[in-house]
Amino acid sequence: MLRRSTSLDSCRRHELPASPPAVSVLASKSESSDKRDMYTDAMRVFEEAADLVHLDRRIRLELEEPDYEHIFWISARLQDRLVPIEGVEADTYADLPASDIQDKGSIEPLYDGKLILHAGALRSGSVYTREGVIRLRERGVFRIVRGQEERFKAYRIQHNKVRGPYKGGIRYHQDVSLDLFKVLAAEMTWKTAVVGVPLGGAKGGIKIDPRLYSRQELEAITLRYMYKLKNLIGPDFDIPAPDVGTNTETMAWLYRQYSDGERSPHHLRGVVTGKDVRIGGSEGRLRATGQGLVYCVEEWFEQKGRSLAGARYMLQGFGNVGTSVAELLHAKGAVLVAVDDADGTIYAPEGLDVEALVRYVHRTPSNLKRSVSGFPGGEAISKHDFWDVDVDVCIPAALGRAIDASTAERLRASLVVEGANHPTTPEADLVLANRGIELIPDIVANAGGVTVSYYEWIQNKRMEHWTEGDVNARLEQAIKSNYRLILDIAANRSRKTATYDSSLFVAGKTLPVRLAAMVLALRRIEAHYSLEGFSQ
Ligand code: GLU
Repeated sequence: MLRRSTSLDSCRRHELPASPPAVSVLASKSESSDKRDMYTDAMRVFEEAADLVHLDRRIRLELEEPDYEHIFWISARLQDRLVPIEGVEADTYADLPASDIQDKGSIEPLYDGKLILHAGALRSGSVYTREGVIRLRERGVFRIVRGQEERFKAYRIQHNKVRGPYKGGIRYHQDVSLDLFKVLAAEMTWKTAVVGVPLGGAKGGIKIDPRLYSRQELEAITLRYMYKLKNLIGPDFDIPAPDVGTNTETMAWLYRQYSDGERSPHHLRGVVTGKDVRIGGSEGRLRATGQGLVYCVEEWFEQKGRSLAGARYMLQGFGNVGTSVAELLHAKGAVLVAVDDADGTIYAPEGLDVEALVRYVHRTPSNLKRSVSGFPGGEAISKHDFWDVDVDVCIPAALGRAIDASTAERLRASLVVEGANHPTTPEADLVLANRGIELIPDIVANAGGVTVSYYEWIQNKRMEHWTEGDVNARLEQAIKSNYRLILDIAANRSRKTATYDSSLFVAGKTLPVRLAAMVLALRRIEAHYSLEGFSQ
């Protein structure tokens, strides 16, 4: 379904020229209007940069709202589950003999304590049930709940394709919304422009907590998602990739469903990026977002004449981005002193053992939450105290809006590097600036992922396989040279060599670095509209 503008959308649209609302107005907004304004908030930097570069009004209108907003529903049949029973109710089954389900693979534990019962599980051992209840040795008492059908809300927002095919990840998360996907899709347009890859911006996904579903259910849901998405995307039109809650396995399912029954499926391999290297993924893609971030951090330290070895940092999020950042910074001698994730916060003033932490989070089968919580090599602290930890660098690499004005007031870092998308609220931006805390903004700090996605897409098109060394050399060049351009724009500094020219982008005055990054993106996007014109 193609969703056209609604009255709500038109309320959100700015009258031009837009000037950023005063902070006091923002602070007095109710929670619900905060939610409604997420998109407007996120577009504020765009509006400011558009004013600054005197962006043509027509181009501005093209970029202010996405090209297409697809919202659709998908359904799937779920598997049977064992739901834990506790307390008095469980006591009434005290005399129920314990059952032994022998085939371990026939039961799959979920994050919420429920167990998935794979087909035939109840026939695989000595099983006793009463009134639909079963007792499992060492696991407890459970009610057997038959699999039901469930419907999920799905999205794909295509923001802009003037520079190349729509490009952006697929997010599986319980808190997604149209506004959030609009923000993230626009962000992809800025990101691809900032790193200079010929792609546009898109984002999509499903409103689902993937931790509450079995692998088999997630496969079925993903296949159904692609079944409905198939005529909206394509390797030369819109190219999904992993994001929060999805991974190489999700990409393999998406690719299979897209290419199923096609005559030349290998020509379609580039329909998704972030694939496993054994099926056409790129070397270096898995760590690319973290690697790009680390290249930015290296450049920042180099420009300051400071040493990264021994620098102390804190990390929010220990998923794909957080984990690669920790591993790569560990190799550079930086010291990780605190990690916060959705389920816990750990702290070690002398530094956490990164290798042990990665093993604990990602390779311990009993750690179903994949959380740093309970890590024996660190002290558990509260989420509140996390923001008071004394560090050189703070790296939010989880979800949006992690640093608000009050956390920004307490931060004891000299640099914030945005691994996540939009982790800093506009109010927090002002606080950080006032406190002299520097920032490496998301559209360059986490653009390594989409950059290597572009390399993967080229390799698929050419039927080539590049080495990790080749990929990283290109990535380093793309990230560092564009980050230098951003720093030059911010400092209003024109520098020119045979391969580098920041005079094309500077705005005639110094700018906050976030605004400078947006200026770079807009100048590159603007060139397409002004040189190619508008198709009718
Ligand atoms: N989800 C990643 C991002 O937000 C990667 C997108 C891509 O590779 O297309 O940048």
